[in-house]
Amino acid sequence: MEKIVYLSIGANQGHKLKTISEALNLIAKEIGSIQAISNFYESAPLGFESKNQFLNICISVSTNLSPTNLLLKTQIIEQQLGRKKKGPNYEDRTIDLDIIYYENWIINLPELTVPHPLLSNRKFVLLPLNDIAPLFLHPILNLNTKELIRQSNDKSSLKRIDYKYIGNENKI
Ligand code: AMP
Repeated sequence: MEKIVYLSIGANQGHKLKTISEALNLIAKEIGSIQAISNFYESAPLGFESKNQFLNICISVSTNLSPTNLLLKTQIIEQQLGRKKKGPNYEDRTIDLDIIYYENWIINLPELTVPHPLLSNRKFVLLPLNDIAPLFLHPILNLNTKELIRQSNDKSSLKRIDYKYIGNENKI
């Protein structure tokens, strides 16, 4: 049975738009069919200093993969797109793929926590998520995306960027 999952994608190095569109192509090939793509948002790095702005989106994907296989695939895609081995701290990254929701499942494994534990404090996840799933209920907090935004402590402001992904990176 296909499952609906929500992924957050962020990039803050190199040609960010190109990297994200390559990630979308790989996700469609390796993970499953993309159901919805949010607007693109530009945000300042949260939690570390960098001059590079992040470009962020959220997507929903229909997949046959189990949660741990989904995590493995997202990590392979990160590596394919040139993300360096992770250090202990936040850092600039070519691409970051996070699993936000896996249906309404609650998953607590050593390598995987779903819903993503930092979701409710991250406007750069909540605003794009709100474009594609405003009423989706967080299975632990029991709040939908609109409500999560209202009670979020993250006061950073994000800029909506006028790109539309139309299936081919060269045409953005
Ligand atoms: P990050 O540097 O934010 O990409 O963190 C990646 C690490 O977080 C990996 O070692 C994953 O095993 C772990 N992780 C835990 N929960 C999640 C999640 N929901 N989505 C992606 N990575 C996760």
